[in-house]
Amino acid sequence: MTAFASILHAGTLLVVNAILALLSAAIFIVLYATRPKVAASKGVLLWGLGYGAIALGFCILILPAFKVEFSYFVLLANLLIDAGTILTLFGVAIYLQRWGWELWALLPAAILGCIEIVLVIAGGESYRVMVPLGAGLRAIVTIATAIALWRCADDARQMAARLASVFHLVWAAMLGLRIIWWLGHPIADTAMDPTSTFGLLSRLLLTWAITPSYLWMLTRELDAELIRQARQDPLTGVANRRVIWAEGEKWAGTGSRKRQYLAVLIIDIDHFKAVNDNWGHGVGDEVLVGVAHSLAQHMRDEDLLARIGGEEFMALVRHDGPSIDQATDAIRAIAERLRQAIEKDAFPLPSGGNLVCTASIGYAISLRGQYQWKDIVEAADGALYDAKRNGRNQVMGSVYEPKAVHAKAD
Ligand code: GH3
Ligand code: MG
Ligand code: MG
Repeated sequence: MTAFASILHAGTLLVVNAILALLSAAIFIVLYATRPKVAASKGVLLWGLGYGAIALGFCILILPAFKVEFSYFVLLANLLIDAGTILTLFGVAIYLQRWGWELWALLPAAILGCIEIVLVIAGGESYRVMVPLGAGLRAIVTIATAIALWRCADDARQMAARLASVFHLVWAAMLGLRIIWWLGHPIADTAMDPTSTFGLLSRLLLTWAITPSYLWMLTRELDAELIRQARQDPLTGVANRRVIWAEGEKWAGTGSRKRQYLAVLIIDIDHFKAVNDNWGHGVGDEVLVGVAHSLAQHMRDEDLLARIGGEEFMALVRHDGPSIDQATDAIRAIAERLRQAIEKDAFPLPSGGNLVCTASIGYAISLRGQYQWKDIVEAADGALYDAKRNGRNQVMGSVYEPKAVHAKAD
């Protein structure tokens, strides 16, 4: 370690550290300024400010080279780097919305910081005091940051967060080594301190590795949001037409070794125009959200629900079974359950009282691999039309049951 440290130049490492921290600060602050402002983006701002504090700390340590010196400048620089480390922890907590017990690390860190300040003011700047206390403070906060990152529960960001977590742990281990050296080495002083250059080198690698890991987290978050927006109906939160069409085409087109049926249910709210006309578009929207919720609650996780038009929903239901008759019974029961769920849920009106909605449902069933998706949808649409014509608030479908499938299935 000593031999390796002798070829590293502490001054150069300080300058490179300051430049890298400054660049990272600039990246995060620009990102914060240009991102849409949501609560979590404050975390990005704190990373920027944290790196800014760290850069300032390194710049102060360079000042003696320019014959600028003032009392307690090493303490001030160290406190700035400590502040940067703490801001990073807060940034992670805000960005990941994780207010876990990791934040309790701030308590021992604050105690160590206060002891350091008191001892330095009482006895002058001594590395034997400042290194173990300062590095101890940073190690505690860095480990807490690593734990918060590791516990990121969001699938999209988890891999990037865990990579950042590992780099934080490497930095904490380096700080631990520095504390052990200064506490245990009898002749440790500033002229004979390989851990200082090692510390600077690993801090440099850390900034170099952590900034891209954080940026990776941000792009993963953005990708997940874009995918969500492309797949979701913005009003009700269920899938949109594009998703159910893609899934339906995939399912209808390919055969299965098992005898599997695919059912398409089209659910259309009855007289919905009257809801808008009588109670306003806002109430209409609330009814749509409520209906989507009722439908989703009464469907299995493996089935798919989408909003395919204004007040029209579609459900894709799969059924494994020996015959079309059995499949028809099962699907009809599901459709009836969905119709009743909508009829049962009443919506409170702003003017008092409740609004009860009904819906008509048309369905069509096909053995997988038998019929084209668009034909099955057309059959379900026809059944829906019949249900409307027949008086609404009912389920129709068997009339449009594809005969060829029936013949093949039995
Ligand atoms: P039917 O029983 O024959 O289905 O009659 P209906 O009134 O439900 O059907 P119609 O197609 O005549 O009217 C549908 C209405 O849905 C008209 C439109 O204003 C309303 N609508 C479409 N999209 C939205 C939306 O996003 N929010 C609200 N509040 N209303 C919507
Ligand atoms: Mg309608
Ligand atoms: Mg309609």
